[in-house]
Amino acid sequence: MNWFERMKSGILTRIKRELPEGIWTSCKRCGETTYQAALERNAWICPHCSNHLPIGYLKYVDLLADNDSFVEINANLRTADPLKFRDHRRYGDRIREARKSASMNEAISTGVCTVGGQPVALGVMDMRYLTATMGGATGEKISRLIDRAIDDRRSLVLVCQSGGARMQESTFSLMQMAKVSARLRRLSDKGLLYACLLTDPTYGGVTASFAMLGDIIIAEPGARIGFAGQSVIKQFMGLEQLPEGFQIAENVLEHGFVDCVVPRDELAATLSRLIALIAPADPVPSTT
Ligand SMILES: [Zn+2]
Repeated sequence: MNWFERMKSGILTRIKRELPEGIWTSCKRCGETTYQAALERNAWICPHCSNHLPIGYLKYVDLLADNDSFVEINANLRTADPLKFRDHRRYGDRIREARKSASMNEAISTGVCTVGGQPVALGVMDMRYLTATMGGATGEKISRLIDRAIDDRRSLVLVCQSGGARMQESTFSLMQMAKVSARLRRLSDKGLLYACLLTDPTYGGVTASFAMLGDIIIAEPGARIGFAGQSVIKQFMGLEQLPEGFQIAENVLEHGFVDCVVPRDELAATLSRLIALIAPADPVPSTT
């Protein structure tokens, strides 16, 4: 028996499911919510559908580098807004906002660390900073990281994710493709290993340069990898739909553009095995 009945029909009771902020995260692919501590233990891979949730650079550093071994370098290097560019907003304002929201000075963090005891020069791009577009300072930080790898005889690992070149810097951005590629050639001439990890999404000028120049190219499952984005291709080709799996890591692997697809929780072990096999370390240099 109902103790209380509605006087009027058609009134819906909204069931409130208020989740305490910062404790639960919902997966964009399957919609399931998962306790953040459980996600952290699972390398931020959804336990329901294996979707690799987007994570910032610090989490990649935690996942890849040996405990407390990462020492950041050139952390204060930032763009000077060389063209004083503005469209409907000033580029300078966008930069200031990005710095604040991502808590970093550029779209990449670089440093030295060990991975499985092997000395590594590690760079991690971060989509939270202007969708990890490649600006002049991004290229400069990568170039200096490569120089450091050469000086110390470290393997180089770059975690790539990017929306492409940073249009607000025009040629200053585009020239980074050539600059970084030339530096990578120097690294290769010294017999040092370069491994790139392609995460979701890796596009544009980054794909067209250093993301595809690794001795080993590893992709995360489900990562979108390509040059032009899917909507651009659809418009240009006049297509309603693209083939299933188009530009997705597993499909890109089938077509020979990457060497392997490795789940995030196996990346550190895979990298350390590869480095030990291909480029075993000289005595570990100091990290200062
Ligand atoms: Zn999921």
